[in-house]
Parts: sequence; structure tokens; C-alpha cells
Amino acid sequence: MTDNDNLRPSHFIRNIINEDLRQNKNDGRVHTRFPPEPNGYLHVGHAKSICLNFTLAAEYRGQCNLRYDDTNPEKESQEYIDAIQDDVRWLGFDWEDRLYFASDYFDRLYEYAEILIRDGKAYVDELSADQIREYRGTLTLPGRESPGRNRPAAENLDLFRRMRAGEFKDGAYVLRARIDMTSPNINMRDPVIYRIKRFHHHRTGDKWCIYPMYDYTHCISDALEGITHSICTLEFEDHRPLYDWCLDQLPVPCHPQQIEFARLNLNYTVTSKRKLNELVNERLVSGWDDPRLPTITGMRRRGYSPAAIRDFCERIGVTKNETVIDMSVLENCVREDLDRDCRRVLAVLRPLRVVITNYPEGQTEQLDAPYHPGRPELGSRKVPFSKVIYIERDDFMEDPPKKFFRLAPGREVRLRYAYFIRCDEALKDQATGELIELRCTYDPATRGGNAPDGRKVKGTIHWVAADHALAAEVRLYDRLFTVPDPGREENWRSLLNPKSVEVIKNARLEPGLASARAEDRFQFERLGYFCVDRRDAAVNRPVFNRTVTLKDSWGKESRRD
Ligand code: ATP
Ligand code: MG
Repeated sequence: MTDNDNLRPSHFIRNIINEDLRQNKNDGRVHTRFPPEPNGYLHVGHAKSICLNFTLAAEYRGQCNLRYDDTNPEKESQEYIDAIQDDVRWLGFDWEDRLYFASDYFDRLYEYAEILIRDGKAYVDELSADQIREYRGTLTLPGRESPGRNRPAAENLDLFRRMRAGEFKDGAYVLRARIDMTSPNINMRDPVIYRIKRFHHHRTGDKWCIYPMYDYTHCISDALEGITHSICTLEFEDHRPLYDWCLDQLPVPCHPQQIEFARLNLNYTVTSKRKLNELVNERLVSGWDDPRLPTITGMRRRGYSPAAIRDFCERIGVTKNETVIDMSVLENCVREDLDRDCRRVLAVLRPLRVVITNYPEGQTEQLDAPYHPGRPELGSRKVPFSKVIYIERDDFMEDPPKKFFRLAPGREVRLRYAYFIRCDEALKDQATGELIELRCTYDPATRGGNAPDGRKVKGTIHWVAADHALAAEVRLYDRLFTVPDPGREENWRSLLNPKSVEVIKNARLEPGLASARAEDRFQFERLGYFCVDRRDAAVNRPVFNRTVTLKDSWGKESRRD
């Protein structure tokens, strides 16, 4: 039992571990692993698996390894290896000195394969991939035995050694486990465990021209590392008998227990490395860290905090039922976390010039503005105020409906942390009729936001002083796809949301933001949470990403139609 047991919702994997501990299975050890294949960047689904494995280990004072399942060299690379480590570390987890590669076990895996062959549990087969598929049978038809299945062990051993020595061309032979061609579980119908493949491996170079298959590699890697609970997603449930079979045949140090849970699916996006790869390679997004992607690096660049992602993974729970989680659940976790921690600042995305006609020419005041209404310990700063300011274009209407409490001709509003102003005149371009500027007057007695005569205004709007403002690029993001479950559609690529990003070139920010550094997060008052883009922002060219809006306006909109 651990300290946090009663704070967290329990789930079936905790129940299994608790039961194992009660029976003193594995001498009371809990050892998990996160086993990515380095063939792409990690996404939010992997985040769930990372959180689950590392958190369980920590809760039970055990350990969690990071292990690369690098058995497919043609799809893997050092770039992915490095990116995965960055992502896991950024999420807040530490594998200490337990960084492993399945390729480190290639020699052991090979020796174990020879043991299987000697014991008559594996054979070399010359059937082609197509023939193997044909012989395998179907769910309703049993498989047929390959002619190679009854080759004597000595011949198999000789052939396997020659496979390794490079005597045969790619695909000429495979090594198969000798299990049961009539098994109702197709995975048990003599699965291939080694293939010949000449491909330079990112770690072992050209040492090997045969590579072990995933199912054979994974269980043995787990056993060699002393893993106790091998947690994976449901698609491996049907592979569990093979996992257990391999370990039962071999003199491995232990026999880990494979436990499957339902993968995380999020709506309006795709969580498949293959699809993400296509989006990146076909340049439908700007890269693996495009802030619209559900990759960990994309979410990071967008401004999601590690704490928010961890909180999300904990809240959605762990089950065996496939579900699709609404994106708003993730966004709400992000909002909650940022609401607590972000300083609030003034920024105008679509500036409308306002001249305060009765304000002294050339004067600048420094007004006091606290960073967070609920957290005085975050401090305050001074914001400059002067004769010409910018307000949000949307905060003015020439002919407003009844419920519009912002600025309109003859109406008065409060400028946040500053004064009441009244709109006297809206200037327009003679030719186009386009609104150019407002002429307003301010009430000097309302400094700080209240009128001594007790008169009320209904609206408070944000603003920045024109001469002091910092020009910035601001990027607004929306759902990547227009449909809730794009992954299910054949034409999923054509369902990308054309409005998933909007770039605003000339936003104006309060001047203090000049010192913001890459990845700093803020609330822009009334607009949402924003962070400094870690890739494109430069000293004199701030670029902000909108992480999330203040409220779930998107959910409301979709409910309307
Ligand atoms: P994808 O299906 O996106 O291509 P994968 O399963 O091939 O991913 P791996 O690198 O093999 O990617 O995954 C590493 C670990 O993360 C595995 O244990 C896998 O079960 C887990 N995982 C992958 N996708 C999800 C998901 N959507 N939800 C939870 N866990 C996942
Ligand atoms: Mg996988």
C-alpha cells in the first residue's frame, strides 16, 4: 500500500499489482518499462502509456525502464531516439541509468533461437511470405504444415547459422516457432521469429543480416530486464499466448506478466504514428512539432504543460474498453493548470486605434497591474498609458445589439487597470467606409477603474498604449480535422480543417513581454493562454502560440448546430 492510494481512482492494473504484492509474487518487486519503437515521434497516446508505467513504478517504489524496440532498422533513426528521450524527460519522468535497446540483446536473442531449434521448437522455412500467409489458414480454416516443419534439428541449425552468415538472399528463408498450425489463435500458427534483411542498423551497423521479430524480441527483452508487469495496449491481447510460449520454452531469468489496457483515442485528431508520419512527410503540417499535432513535442510547442498532460492521463483512467476521449477533456486540464500558474497580461490581437482627445499630449503614466487576481504572490507590474491606445477591434460596434456591453458611440467602458473612456466619434475611410480610429474622452477621476460618483459601467476591455506596444506575431489554432474520427475515414487527409491555424502578423502586446523567453506562458486577458513559440520567436520578433482559449467556446459552437 502506498501513501497516495486513497487519493487516486484505482484501476484494474493497480488491483492486479496489489494482489501480486499480497502473494509476494516477484519478491514484492514492481518493475515496468516504456517500450517505444524509434520510428516516429511520441504522441498523446504514448504519453498515457509513459505516465501509467512510470507512475505505477513510483507508487510502488519500483522502477521503470526506457527501452527502444529497435528491430526494424529500415524505419528507425537516431533522430527519433533522441526525440523520444527529450519527450519523456519533458513529461517529468526519469529512467535513471535504465536506458535499454532491444538491439543490445541481439546476441542473446540469437542464442535463444538456437536453443529453440535444438529443442525442436523452431525450424527454418523456405516458404515465401505469400505462401506462409496462404498456409496459415483463417479464423475458420486451420493452417497447413509447411514441408520444412519436419526438418531435423541439425539441418535447421545449419541453415539458421548460414542465414546469419549471409549465405542467402533477403527473404529466402525465415525462422519459425514450431507451435501449432491448427491453433484457434492465428498468432500461434508457427509465427516467424527471424527474417533475413540486409539493412544497416542505427546501433549494430552491419553486424546482422537477420533480425528478430517483435513478438519474439519483446517478451525476452522484458524477461532479461526483470520486468514484472509488461503493460501494453489491447491489440496485443491475442499475442499474449505467444509471449508466454516463448518464455516458457527458454531458460530466461523470469516470466513477466503481460497486461493489456485500451489505447487512448482523442477526437478530431489522429493518434497513429503512421498517419502522423504521412502528415509530416507530405508537408500537410509544418513538422513533428506543429502545434496542431497531438505529438508530445507539438503539444509542448503549443504551450501545454507537462503537469496538464499528466493530469489528463490520470483523469481519463485505465480500462479495457475502447473509448474516444473528447478533446475538450484535455483542453480543460490545460486550462486548469494554466489558470493557476500563468501571469495575466494585456495584448490586443486585432488592433483598433483609439485617440483619447482630452488626455495630455506627450504624457505617459505607469499604472499598477497585478499579475493574477487570485495570487498576489505572483506580484504586479507597471503598464504604460498614454494618449493613443489600441483596443480589440471586436470590442467596438457602431450599432450594437442590446446585450453588447463594450464600446459603441456614446457608450462608456472601463479600460482594465486604467480609466473609464467614452466613445465620441468613429472615424472612417471616406472611400471604403472602413473604420480607422475612435475618438474618445477619458474621465481622470476613474483612475484604477472606479468612479468616485458611483456610476457603473458594464464592460471592461483590454488595451495597450500605442507608442509603447510591442508588435508580435500570434498564431491561433483550432482542431486539426473537421470530423470527430478522421482516422476511420479512407480519405482522412482531405478532412484537415483549413482553418486549423490563423496567423496574426500585427498583434500589439504590453511592453514587458519583450523579456519573455521561449516557452514562457501567459494569459492574455480575455483572449486565452499563449506561449512564446520555441522555434520561431527571436529577440526582436516575438511569436506567440495560442495554447487554448479561456472557455470551451468550441464545444458550445458544435452544440449549436
Ligand atoms: P502507433 O499505433 O501510434 O503507431 P505504436 O503502438 O506502434 O504506436 P510503439 O512505439 O510501439 O508505438 O508504442 C510504445 C508503447 O506505447 C506501447 O506499449 C504501446 O502499447 C503504447 N501506446 C501506443 N499508442 C498508444 C495509445 N494510443 N494509448 C496508449 N498507449 C499507447
Ligand atoms: Mg507498436
